[in-house]
Amino acid sequence: MDRPRFVIEASEAESMAKKSGLTVVQLLPSLVKSAQGLARVPISKFHVGAIGYGSSGRIFFGVNLEFPGLPLHYSVHAEQFLVTNLSIQSEPRLDYVAVSAAPCGHCRQFFQEIRGAQDIKILITSAEPGDNNDGSCGQFSPLLQLLPHRFGPGDLLGEDVPLVLEQHNNGLSFSNKSETFSNKSPTFSNDLIKAALEAANKSHAPYSLCPSGVAILDSEGKIYKGWYMESAAYNPSMGPVRAALVNYIVSGGVGYDKIVAAVLVEKEVALVKQEQTARLLLQTISPKVEFRVFHCK
Ligand SMILES: [Zn+2]
Repeated sequence: MDRPRFVIEASEAESMAKKSGLTVVQLLPSLVKSAQGLARVPISKFHVGAIGYGSSGRIFFGVNLEFPGLPLHYSVHAEQFLVTNLSIQSEPRLDYVAVSAAPCGHCRQFFQEIRGAQDIKILITSAEPGDNNDGSCGQFSPLLQLLPHRFGPGDLLGEDVPLVLEQHNNGLSFSNKSETFSNKSPTFSNDLIKAALEAANKSHAPYSLCPSGVAILDSEGKIYKGWYMESAAYNPSMGPVRAALVNYIVSGGVGYDKIVAAVLVEKEVALVKQEQTARLLLQTISPKVEFRVFHCK
Protein backbone atom coordinates (compact mmCIF):
# COMPACT_ATOMS: atom_id res chain seq x y z
CA MET A 1 0.00 0.00 0.00
CA ASP A 2 1.25 3.48 -0.83
CA ARG A 3 2.01 5.50 2.23
CA PRO A 4 -0.22 8.51 2.75
CA ARG A 5 1.21 11.73 1.41
CA PHE A 6 1.19 15.04 3.22
CA VAL A 7 2.93 17.12 0.54
CA ILE A 8 2.13 17.29 -3.19
CA GLU A 9 4.82 18.80 -5.38
CA ALA A 10 3.93 21.83 -7.52
CA SER A 11 4.17 20.05 -10.87
CA GLU A 12 1.90 17.23 -9.70
CA ALA A 13 -0.57 19.71 -8.21
CA GLU A 14 -0.73 21.46 -11.59
CA SER A 15 -1.34 18.27 -13.51
CA MET A 16 -3.97 17.04 -11.02
CA ALA A 17 -5.81 20.34 -11.42
CA LYS A 18 -5.53 20.27 -15.19
CA LYS A 19 -6.93 16.73 -15.33
CA SER A 20 -9.98 17.89 -13.38
CA GLY A 21 -10.36 21.05 -15.46
CA LEU A 22 -9.72 23.19 -12.39
CA THR A 23 -7.14 25.59 -11.09
CA VAL A 24 -4.99 24.37 -8.19
CA VAL A 25 -6.93 26.63 -5.81
CA GLN A 26 -10.22 25.12 -7.00
CA LEU A 27 -8.76 21.65 -6.46
CA LEU A 28 -8.00 22.22 -2.75
CA PRO A 29 -11.50 21.55 -1.32
CA SER A 30 -11.66 18.21 -3.13
CA LEU A 31 -8.61 16.99 -1.17
CA VAL A 32 -10.05 17.78 2.27
CA LYS A 33 -11.85 14.42 2.63
CA SER A 34 -8.68 12.43 2.00
CA ALA A 35 -6.88 14.53 4.62
CA GLN A 36 -9.69 13.85 7.12
CA GLY A 37 -9.06 10.14 6.65
CA LEU A 38 -5.51 10.59 7.94
CA ALA A 39 -6.48 12.22 11.24
CA ARG A 40 -5.53 10.31 14.41
CA VAL A 41 -8.38 11.05 16.78
CA PRO A 42 -8.98 8.18 19.24
CA ILE A 43 -10.66 10.52 21.76
CA SER A 44 -13.07 12.68 19.76
CA LYS A 45 -13.37 10.56 16.59
CA PHE A 46 -13.83 14.00 14.96
CA HIS A 47 -11.66 13.98 11.85
CA VAL A 48 -10.43 17.36 10.67
CA GLY A 49 -8.52 17.83 7.43
CA ALA A 50 -6.85 21.05 6.30
CA ILE A 51 -5.32 21.52 2.86
CA GLY A 52 -2.89 24.38 2.35
CA TYR A 53 -1.54 25.95 -0.82
CA GLY A 54 1.91 27.50 -0.45
CA SER A 55 3.58 30.19 -2.53
CA SER A 56 5.94 27.58 -4.06
CA GLY A 57 2.91 25.91 -5.66
CA ARG A 58 3.05 22.90 -3.36
CA ILE A 59 -0.02 21.51 -1.56
CA PHE A 60 0.25 20.56 2.12
CA PHE A 61 -1.97 18.38 4.29
CA GLY A 62 -2.85 18.94 7.92
CA VAL A 63 -4.79 16.60 10.23
CA ASN A 64 -5.70 16.59 13.90
CA LEU A 65 -3.91 14.38 16.43
CA GLU A 66 -5.04 13.28 19.88
CA PHE A 67 -3.09 11.41 22.53
CA PRO A 68 -4.97 9.11 24.92
CA GLY A 69 -3.67 9.27 28.48
CA LEU A 70 -2.74 12.94 28.25
CA PRO A 71 -4.67 16.15 28.87
CA LEU A 72 -6.56 17.47 25.85
CA HIS A 73 -4.27 20.45 25.37
CA TYR A 74 -1.62 18.08 24.01
CA SER A 75 -3.84 17.60 20.95
CA VAL A 76 -2.66 19.03 17.65
CA HIS A 77 -5.30 20.73 15.51
CA ALA A 78 -5.28 20.22 11.75
CA GLU A 79 -4.41 23.85 11.03
CA GLN A 80 -1.53 23.71 13.50
CA PHE A 81 -0.32 20.46 11.88
CA LEU A 82 -0.57 22.23 8.52
CA VAL A 83 1.55 25.22 9.58
CA THR A 84 4.11 22.84 11.14
CA ASN A 85 4.18 20.83 7.91
CA LEU A 86 4.92 24.03 5.93
CA SER A 87 7.63 25.00 8.40
CA ILE A 88 9.29 21.58 8.16
CA GLN A 89 9.28 21.80 4.34
CA SER A 90 10.68 25.38 4.41
CA GLU A 91 7.63 26.75 2.63
CA PRO A 92 7.83 30.55 2.83
CA ARG A 93 4.16 31.48 2.61
CA LEU A 94 0.67 30.02 3.05
CA ASP A 95 -1.84 31.55 0.63
CA TYR A 96 -4.97 29.34 0.75
CA VAL A 97 -6.49 26.85 3.19
CA ALA A 98 -9.47 24.56 2.63
CA VAL A 99 -10.57 22.97 5.88
CA SER A 100 -13.36 20.57 6.83
CA ALA A 101 -14.65 22.47 9.90
CA ALA A 102 -14.54 26.09 10.96
CA PRO A 103 -11.11 26.87 12.43
CA CYS A 104 -11.40 27.22 16.21
CA GLY A 105 -10.22 30.37 17.97
CA HIS A 106 -6.96 28.67 18.93
CA CYS A 107 -6.12 28.02 15.26
CA ARG A 108 -7.21 31.47 14.05
CA GLN A 109 -4.75 32.73 16.66
CA PHE A 110 -1.96 30.33 15.68
CA PHE A 111 -2.22 31.51 12.05
CA GLN A 112 -1.37 35.01 13.29
CA GLU A 113 2.29 33.93 13.61
CA ILE A 114 2.48 33.97 9.78
CA ARG A 115 3.33 37.34 8.26
CA GLY A 116 0.34 38.75 6.41
CA ALA A 117 -1.97 36.22 8.12
CA GLN A 118 -5.01 38.40 7.59
CA ASP A 119 -4.73 37.78 3.82
CA ILE A 120 -4.67 33.95 3.99
CA LYS A 121 -7.80 32.80 2.17
CA ILE A 122 -9.88 30.22 4.03
CA LEU A 123 -12.66 27.98 2.73
CA ILE A 124 -14.70 25.83 5.13
CA THR A 125 -15.98 22.83 3.21
CA SER A 126 -18.74 22.04 5.74
CA ALA A 127 -20.15 25.58 5.64
CA GLU A 128 -23.83 25.90 4.78
CA PRO A 129 -25.32 28.78 2.80
CA GLY A 130 -25.76 31.65 5.20
CA ASP A 131 -22.90 30.59 7.49
CA ASN A 132 -20.87 33.50 6.22
CA ASN A 133 -22.03 37.02 7.02
CA ASP A 134 -22.29 37.85 3.35
CA GLY A 135 -24.38 34.74 2.65
CA SER A 136 -21.66 33.04 0.65
CA CYS A 137 -20.54 29.46 1.14
CA GLY A 138 -17.95 27.37 -0.57
CA GLN A 139 -15.92 30.54 -1.10
CA PHE A 140 -12.46 31.47 0.03
CA SER A 141 -12.51 34.49 2.29
CA PRO A 142 -9.64 36.21 4.05
CA LEU A 143 -8.71 35.19 7.58
CA LEU A 144 -9.33 38.82 8.54
CA GLN A 145 -13.03 38.02 8.18
CA LEU A 146 -12.77 35.18 10.72
CA LEU A 147 -10.66 37.19 13.16
CA PRO A 148 -11.33 40.90 12.67
CA HIS A 149 -9.82 42.25 15.89
CA ARG A 150 -6.55 40.45 15.90
CA PHE A 151 -3.90 40.21 18.59
CA GLY A 152 -0.65 39.12 17.04
CA PRO A 153 3.11 39.35 16.86
CA GLY A 154 2.86 43.04 15.96
CA ASP A 155 1.52 43.75 19.46
CA LEU A 156 4.66 42.36 21.10
CA LEU A 157 7.51 42.36 18.58
CA GLY A 158 9.32 44.70 16.24
CA GLU A 159 8.65 44.46 12.49
CA ASP A 160 12.07 42.93 11.75
CA VAL A 161 11.67 39.83 13.96
CA PRO A 162 11.27 36.71 11.80
CA LEU A 163 7.87 35.04 12.09
CA VAL A 164 6.83 31.43 11.58
CA LEU A 165 7.72 30.26 8.02
CA GLU A 166 10.48 32.88 7.83
CA GLN A 167 14.08 31.83 8.16
CA HIS A 168 15.37 31.43 11.71
CA ASN A 169 18.90 30.91 12.86
CA ASN A 170 19.08 31.21 16.60
CA GLY A 171 22.88 30.82 16.67
CA LEU A 172 22.76 28.19 19.42
CA SER A 173 25.64 25.89 20.25
CA PHE A 174 26.09 23.21 22.91
CA SER A 175 26.99 24.53 26.35
CA ASN A 176 29.51 21.75 26.81
CA LYS A 177 30.48 20.30 23.48
CA SER A 178 32.92 17.66 24.70
CA GLU A 179 30.46 16.36 27.28
CA THR A 180 27.62 16.34 24.74
CA PHE A 181 29.53 14.18 22.28
CA SER A 182 31.40 12.06 24.83
CA ASN A 183 28.53 9.62 25.24
CA LYS A 184 29.24 6.35 23.51
CA SER A 185 25.66 5.15 23.41
CA PRO A 186 24.79 3.71 20.00
CA THR A 187 21.23 5.03 20.42
CA PHE A 188 22.26 8.63 20.99
CA SER A 189 24.44 9.04 17.92
CA ASN A 190 26.13 12.33 17.10
CA ASP A 191 23.72 12.63 14.16
CA LEU A 192 20.70 12.46 16.46
CA ILE A 193 22.14 15.02 18.88
CA LYS A 194 23.16 17.37 16.05
CA ALA A 195 19.70 17.08 14.50
CA ALA A 196 18.13 18.27 17.76
CA LEU A 197 20.47 21.30 17.82
CA GLU A 198 19.62 22.08 14.18
CA ALA A 199 15.97 21.95 15.15
CA ALA A 200 16.50 24.30 18.11
CA ASN A 201 18.21 26.74 15.75
CA LYS A 202 15.01 26.90 13.67
CA SER A 203 12.75 27.38 16.68
CA HIS A 204 10.38 30.37 16.69
CA ALA A 205 10.52 31.61 20.29
CA PRO A 206 10.59 35.41 20.08
CA TYR A 207 8.36 35.93 23.14
CA SER A 208 10.19 33.81 25.73
CA LEU A 209 13.59 33.73 24.00
CA CYS A 210 13.69 30.07 25.04
CA PRO A 211 14.07 28.17 21.75
CA SER A 212 14.14 24.39 21.70
CA GLY A 213 14.30 21.50 19.27
CA VAL A 214 13.70 17.77 19.31
CA ALA A 215 15.01 14.93 17.19
CA ILE A 216 13.30 11.57 17.43
CA LEU A 217 14.70 8.25 16.27
CA ASP A 218 12.63 5.32 15.03
CA SER A 219 13.44 1.61 15.10
CA GLU A 220 14.72 1.80 11.50
CA GLY A 221 17.30 4.41 12.44
CA LYS A 222 15.51 7.32 10.80
CA ILE A 223 15.62 10.77 12.43
CA TYR A 224 12.76 13.31 12.50
CA LYS A 225 13.23 16.89 13.65
CA GLY A 226 10.74 19.30 15.13
CA TRP A 227 11.06 22.75 16.62
CA TYR A 228 9.17 24.77 19.18
CA MET A 229 6.94 27.49 17.66
CA GLU A 230 5.47 30.11 19.95
CA SER A 231 2.26 32.06 19.61
CA ALA A 232 1.88 35.68 20.67
CA ALA A 233 -1.06 34.45 22.76
CA TYR A 234 1.18 31.78 24.39
CA ASN A 235 -1.36 28.94 24.75
CA PRO A 236 -1.57 27.98 21.06
CA SER A 237 2.24 27.48 20.99
CA MET A 238 3.43 24.24 19.40
CA GLY A 239 5.87 22.21 21.50
CA PRO A 240 8.95 20.62 19.93
CA VAL A 241 7.93 16.99 20.50
CA ARG A 242 4.54 17.52 18.87
CA ALA A 243 6.29 19.26 15.95
CA ALA A 244 8.66 16.29 15.60
CA LEU A 245 5.64 13.94 15.64
CA VAL A 246 4.13 15.93 12.77
CA ASN A 247 7.39 15.40 10.87
CA TYR A 248 7.29 11.68 11.76
CA ILE A 249 3.76 11.33 10.37
CA VAL A 250 4.47 13.48 7.29
CA SER A 251 7.52 11.29 6.57
CA GLY A 252 5.44 8.10 6.69
CA GLY A 253 5.79 7.13 10.36
CA VAL A 254 2.90 4.98 11.53
CA GLY A 255 2.96 3.64 15.10
CA TYR A 256 4.37 5.86 17.83
CA ASP A 257 5.74 2.71 19.50
CA LYS A 258 8.35 2.62 16.71
CA ILE A 259 9.91 5.72 18.27
CA VAL A 260 12.84 4.43 20.31
CA ALA A 261 14.75 7.54 21.34
CA ALA A 262 14.50 11.29 21.46
CA VAL A 263 16.83 14.20 22.16
CA LEU A 264 15.71 17.62 23.35
CA VAL A 265 18.02 20.63 23.07
CA GLU A 266 17.16 23.71 25.10
CA LYS A 267 18.86 26.31 27.27
CA GLU A 268 19.86 25.22 30.75
CA VAL A 269 18.61 28.37 32.41
CA ALA A 270 15.32 29.30 30.80
CA LEU A 271 11.98 30.73 31.83
CA VAL A 272 10.22 28.31 29.50
CA LYS A 273 11.41 24.70 29.62
CA GLN A 274 10.20 21.73 27.62
CA GLU A 275 11.98 18.90 29.42
CA GLN A 276 9.25 17.61 31.74
CA THR A 277 6.45 18.00 29.21
CA ALA A 278 8.52 16.38 26.47
CA ARG A 279 9.34 13.40 28.70
CA LEU A 280 5.69 12.94 29.68
CA LEU A 281 4.42 13.08 26.11
CA LEU A 282 7.11 10.74 24.75
CA GLN A 283 6.78 8.18 27.54
CA THR A 284 3.00 8.16 27.20
CA ILE A 285 2.97 7.49 23.46
CA SER A 286 6.02 5.19 23.39
CA PRO A 287 6.73 3.78 26.87
CA LYS A 288 10.12 2.29 25.94
CA VAL A 289 11.52 5.53 24.50
CA GLU A 290 14.95 6.62 25.72
CA PHE A 291 15.06 10.37 26.25
CA ARG A 292 17.98 12.72 26.80
CA VAL A 293 18.33 16.46 27.17
CA PHE A 294 21.36 18.46 26.08
CA HIS A 295 21.75 22.10 26.91
CA CYS A 296 22.69 24.89 24.58
CA LYS A 297 23.59 28.54 24.92
ZN1 LIG B 1 -8.25 24.52 16.04
